Amino acid sequence: MQPKLSSIKFSVEDRKSQIELLSNTEFDLLVIGGGITGAGIALDAAQRGLKVALLEKKDYAWGTSSRSTKLIHGGLRYLKQMEFKLVQEVGTERAIVHRNARHIVVPEKMLLPITEGGSLSKNMSAWALWVYDWLAAVDKSESKKMLNAADTAMAEPLLRKEGLKAGGLYFEYRTDDARLTAEILKTAVEFGAICLNYAEINGFEYDSGNLIKKAKVIDNLQGSAFSVNAKIFVNAAGPWVDNLRAFDTDGVKGKRLHLSKGVHLVIPFEKLALKQSVYFDVKADKRMIFAIPRDSITYLGTTDTNFSGDIENPEASAQDAAYIIAAVNEMFPSADLKVEDVISSWAGLRPLIHQDGKSVSELSRKDEIFLSKSGLISIAGGKLTGYRKMAEKVVNLVSKKLGRNVACGTKNLKLSGADFETNEALDRFFNLRCGQAKQISASHREIKSLLNRYGANIDLIIANAFELYQQEPDPSKRLLLAELNYCIEYEQVASLCDFLIRRSGRLYFNRPELENQYHFIAEAMAKKLNWTSTETAENMLEFETEYNRVLAFKNSEIA
Ligand SMILES: Cc1cc2nc3c(=O)[nH]c(=O)nc-3n(C[C@H](O)[C@H](O)[C@H](O)COP(=O)(O)OP(=O)(O)OC[C@H]3O[C@@H](n4cnc5c(N)ncnc54)[C@H](O)[C@@H]3O)c2cc1C
Repeated sequence: MQPKLSSIKFSVEDRKSQIELLSNTEFDLLVIGGGITGAGIALDAAQRGLKVALLEKKDYAWGTSSRSTKLIHGGLRYLKQMEFKLVQEVGTERAIVHRNARHIVVPEKMLLPITEGGSLSKNMSAWALWVYDWLAAVDKSESKKMLNAADTAMAEPLLRKEGLKAGGLYFEYRTDDARLTAEILKTAVEFGAICLNYAEINGFEYDSGNLIKKAKVIDNLQGSAFSVNAKIFVNAAGPWVDNLRAFDTDGVKGKRLHLSKGVHLVIPFEKLALKQSVYFDVKADKRMIFAIPRDSITYLGTTDTNFSGDIENPEASAQDAAYIIAAVNEMFPSADLKVEDVISSWAGLRPLIHQDGKSVSELSRKDEIFLSKSGLISIAGGKLTGYRKMAEKVVNLVSKKLGRNVACGTKNLKLSGADFETNEALDRFFNLRCGQAKQISASHREIKSLLNRYGANIDLIIANAFELYQQEPDPSKRLLLAELNYCIEYEQVASLCDFLIRRSGRLYFNRPELENQYHFIAEAMAKKLNWTSTETAENMLEFETEYNRVLAFKNSEIA
């Protein structure tokens, strides 16, 4: 008998039932790719009542959606390229994404220093920030403020004083891209979507009219094959969009992708103890980069370079690191940053649309939809910030093809764990949970970081920590175990890397602590998921490879 959807958990523990259901159902829509784009489409479609499946070849957000600058922003620099419509669309979306996911999309004050010889003048910046606020209909309380040189230096004392002319203060939002993707997917699942990671599409089957009717899938955990039947197929494979198109009979015709690599470096907060985030000019090439303080670290980036290497494994090079470090030392001379100070990094690929004669920095960040004769709908380009709007466009098209006429309902839809009407409600929730958590000896800091990751769902984590009280006497380990259990049972975590990199961000934000933690976590996972010793060893090796890879550039020469 086919398993009932309502009885299937979003957990690797229910993988067999998920695959059975995927193999035996005709879906209205199959979404290929579990990054933010695919997740947004699955949620929008499921919320409109469509029967939806989503398949991801590795883990959710494993591609670009865990390696961005992690900002929900309007893209101030796109004003320079006269992309007013794009700035208006993503700028307006910021407040919506914040409202629907307050725990992971938090307001972030940004300082734009204006310097001698920089690419921005005071008048130009004031105008740009005014246009930015106006296009995005920013609330008065969050509108831009121009500062003189002395006030700019006070706002951020680490800025270079010589040549500092003025500054602009404005608001963006900070997020965790992979967690945002996970919350969207959990919400899609609540609306009935069937989502499976480690399920890779490697071909299509066609009907007599040459329209796609099935996707061929490899189960990347067990190695078996199955296929999924759907009326419509959407290719949301990010940097792999053209690879998927190449599987299709229509191939890659007309527009194609142009990949650009972006790198971020992570340093201990004390090395650049910023009072707030700064968005500044790189003197060498007039690009703009961010320096963003976040708990115990500050992260810096990004670069924007043509990419033609191994698409599965983009990584920071010695050259990327040198570029970012030089730019930071130029703007914050007292940091005196060296490559040895870097404690982690990440590198992602922007799936941009190629335009003849344009350099990567000039390429538009707009999203585009490609339609193939076989019915495959591909979407590429765009931003994390605009995920909901991109999904709306795609699902409008899908609905039209299916002859369904249901409007998009995600504008006021709170994501999983985000049921807070106001930021004050979120604060009250935090204070209450801190009180409860005293009984399991959890610190405010621990509760805060869990809240920022899981929102109201931390109640399940705290409850489990209470249950583990006898089993695990160390309070921090107990909370860590409870978090791990939550991610396995409710977020389909299947590997050590899934937990340490994408669900909890620890490899990027807490790498030094992992050296003493990952063995313990691997053992706990092995016990819960009945791994064989070979599976445990494979998981450890996969993690150790990633652990070393984020700092591999330290051992290489500048090319
Ligand atoms: C350095 C950098 C900084 C950025 N900063 C920001 C920012 O601050 N704010 C912002 O709004 N945007 C930012 N962006 C842009 C944003 O991150 C991307 O637009 C977005 O993450 C792309 O998401 P995606 O879902 O389209 O692609 P991805 O996240 O790459 O997802 C595609 C998924 O498809 C899967 N897949 C591929 N092939 C198959 C297959 N055959 N079968 C099944 N699954 C498959 C992949 O494994 C992958 O997980 C940044 C991008 C970069 C690179």
